[in-house]
Amino acid sequence: MAPQGGTVRSKGAYVCASAFLLTLCASGLRARDPSATPTESTPSSSLRIRKVRVLIVSQAPRVRLRSSDRLVVLDASGGVQGRFDPDTAVVITPRGGKSLRVGDSLRVSSGATIRSQDGAPIRVSQRQGDEWSPEFSYHGWIHLKVTEGRRLDVINHVDVESYVACVVANEVWPTFHEEAYRAQAIVSRSFVLYQMDRRPATDVDVTATQGSQVYRGIRTDGPGGRAAEATEYTRGLVLTHRSDTGRDQLFCTYYSAACGGMSQSAALLGAEGDVEPLHGGVACDYCRIAPGDNYRWGPETLSAADVLRRLAARYPSITSLGRIRRITPIERTPAGRPVTLRIYGTGGTSHDILAERFRVAIGGMVAKSTDCRITVGNGEVVFDEGKGFGHGLGLCQWGTQGQALEGKRAGEILAFYYPGSRLLRAY
Ligand SMILES: [Zn+2]
Repeated sequence: MAPQGGTVRSKGAYVCASAFLLTLCASGLRARDPSATPTESTPSSSLRIRKVRVLIVSQAPRVRLRSSDRLVVLDASGGVQGRFDPDTAVVITPRGGKSLRVGDSLRVSSGATIRSQDGAPIRVSQRQGDEWSPEFSYHGWIHLKVTEGRRLDVINHVDVESYVACVVANEVWPTFHEEAYRAQAIVSRSFVLYQMDRRPATDVDVTATQGSQVYRGIRTDGPGGRAAEATEYTRGLVLTHRSDTGRDQLFCTYYSAACGGMSQSAALLGAEGDVEPLHGGVACDYCRIAPGDNYRWGPETLSAADVLRRLAARYPSITSLGRIRRITPIERTPAGRPVTLRIYGTGGTSHDILAERFRVAIGGMVAKSTDCRITVGNGEVVFDEGKGFGHGLGLCQWGTQGQALEGKRAGEILAFYYPGSRLLRAY
């Protein structure tokens, strides 16, 4: 529920953010004063956006489901194929011919769906070696797909607001101010709606990892409750930008833990979204409050052989370099962050790689950002004088917390990190 006593300053104009929202929203988008914080209740009947499809398990040998409700198994055309009593552990095993064995004897084709009869969450775990992984609990229903090599992908179909609440609980720090929670809810909602808009014809909109947004199902602890409140408070609010044709459109609302002093340009870093809110150059030292070494970090050291091995796992051709002799930025953003690195090998050749891809390949906890000095010597690669944690695009999470602690509202903070954006109501 929204807290009492706030102000509502909706302009009352109705505009639509994209063709996607135009077709899926009953009332279009309502422009908001970005400094306002929404407090009104919104008509849930206007929500006609389809469910988001989240890949929660990839390439598993077996999965196990259970619920406090009966579980109902439906084939790909929606016909009921079987039911399982409450609290029954239902093991699903991929079989030949793209079929699945559900429980001891039920056999269905790939593409089956499992729902709980009365909407109770479904708990999911996967087989890892000789053990079952910890269970996570999900709203919505579970879609099962047999992949090549007789493995299982599990896709959770869940309503957008439930998904956002679960993501916010994992993407912010538990101690964050409520305005930081609200800003994160708007950003995570905008992000997923943008991804859904781009993938109408595929099976999956987002993964459950940092490659999209971290999603581990329902959290019932303190952060889970605060995330749910922030999601409800900002229900339906999204960020848009004004396109060349004058329409409000969603964009990829990137965010990272700490920008380290300056936000980056999506276009320059090879990310999608050459739009005004992602042009970067936003000076921010609010993230200096980030704990540990998230604002300034280093030195971190890896052996040169280890760096090469980690890179080769993603980019096999890089082994032709021999051993790493030197790593040099050959292009930088105006803010000084490397865009492209050139890796020189002992064989006399070199390999160019986008700095962000380099960072992800060697591990984001080693090089917390690409904004660092890299030196090679004595068989080691040293990352030093590092600034920030993450890619530095869009919203700076610790900066958001810093601004919230100074009294800023979520709308003001979003306008700061996404210049030229508009805060609109999608539903
Ligand atoms: Zn920052």
